[in-house]
Amino acid sequence: MKFQAIKGTRDILPPDSTLWNQVEQTAREVFASYNFNEIRPPIFEQTELFARSIGAETDVVAKEMYTFEDRDDSSISLRPEATASVCRAYIEHGMQTLPGNVKLHYMGPMFRRERPQKGRYRQFYQIGAEVLGQSDAPAIDAEVIEMLLAFFEKAGLANATLSVNSIGDKNCRPQYIELLRAELQKVKAQLGPDSQRRIETNPLRVLDSKLPEEQAIIENLPRIADHLCDSCRTHFAKLQDELKLRGILYEINWRLVRGLDYYTRTTFEIVAPGLGSQNAVCGGGRYDGLVELLGGPPTKGIGFAIGTDRLILSLQETGKAAAKKGLDVYVAWMGEKSYAPAVKLARKLRDSGFAVELPPEEMKFKKSLGLADKLGARYALIIGEDEVASGQLTLKHLADGRQQKYSEAGLLEHLRETRQT
Ligand code: AMP
Repeated sequence: MKFQAIKGTRDILPPDSTLWNQVEQTAREVFASYNFNEIRPPIFEQTELFARSIGAETDVVAKEMYTFEDRDDSSISLRPEATASVCRAYIEHGMQTLPGNVKLHYMGPMFRRERPQKGRYRQFYQIGAEVLGQSDAPAIDAEVIEMLLAFFEKAGLANATLSVNSIGDKNCRPQYIELLRAELQKVKAQLGPDSQRRIETNPLRVLDSKLPEEQAIIENLPRIADHLCDSCRTHFAKLQDELKLRGILYEINWRLVRGLDYYTRTTFEIVAPGLGSQNAVCGGGRYDGLVELLGGPPTKGIGFAIGTDRLILSLQETGKAAAKKGLDVYVAWMGEKSYAPAVKLARKLRDSGFAVELPPEEMKFKKSLGLADKLGARYALIIGEDEVASGQLTLKHLADGRQQKYSEAGLLEHLRETRQT
């Protein structure tokens, strides 16, 4: 029997995993500079948490969740996203009593049973952040977007484009949805089966349609911007002022409704090059009311989730993947007496932050240096019994074959001076 990774899942292998780590590290640093702290919610939760927050009628909940019965008959689901978990944690730990806004970020795997293709997996990864608290000031939305773009810039993602929209709130959206539904009924016969079904279940999602034959029809539908209540209209106008203040370029996409039920007012999305049809690399928005819906106190919220798989793909396809930091030193030891000094020296070098490979078994000199080359080491450190006796170690620069002798202290100094960052 031959085992294989399950369809839609994959192994992230070296050297890609190095790039993943760099990207995640950059996110941690940028988010910390905006005073966000990390939350690590569990990977599975009560099914009802997702059904209630994301919406039972959404594709994610209705078709894509990995749901199973636990041994005590309760229903559990692998998380398809993390905002619901963050809100559950906010309530469970009484975070509304914390000073100021609660600013959290997370990263980790999410699970959706979608049809796999390039940039779309059943286990995929997200890096996300949420701001929860009493204020819905548009400055919060803008700062979250600024942070996101600062991260993309540091990660090396070029030509990302930001779209924003406002989808109203509980005061104005229901009327708009009814208007939209009525207009959709009039053109129902010209729509495909998915859109026809959505007229009843979720008319906003019709606006998401990518079907070429539906585009002209959708262009003529009423637009939410013309039906926002005063406070939503003001909020959206202020958001745009705040984006301009920060020098952030954006376009307004009135069809950007997002697939999850909990969004209110601000929605945004970022698309990146090199990804084909799955080019949305980040989605986010405001979700005032979600915490309350889950049984918590009245709370405002906004957040985003970056598709890490797609971000990495885009970096690779646009040649922006950072160079991998490789192996610094290969310790070519030979002879029984040199083994113990080699082990101790390897430890010292590793403690000083160098990547070191120490062969676990003795090898012939030539074979050992050949392996050092194949592993891409910068240096081979030669420790034979003569070197141990004299205390002078030979360092060979593998790119050009230069060799030089050093004492242990001299060696460390030389390596530090020539360290590659
Ligand atoms: P969402 O949680 O649906 O708002 O998605 C946020 C981001 O996660 C998207 O913009 C994608 O970059 C990413 N994403 C969502 N679903 C998948 C998937 N099945 N595979 C890979 N990335 C995904």
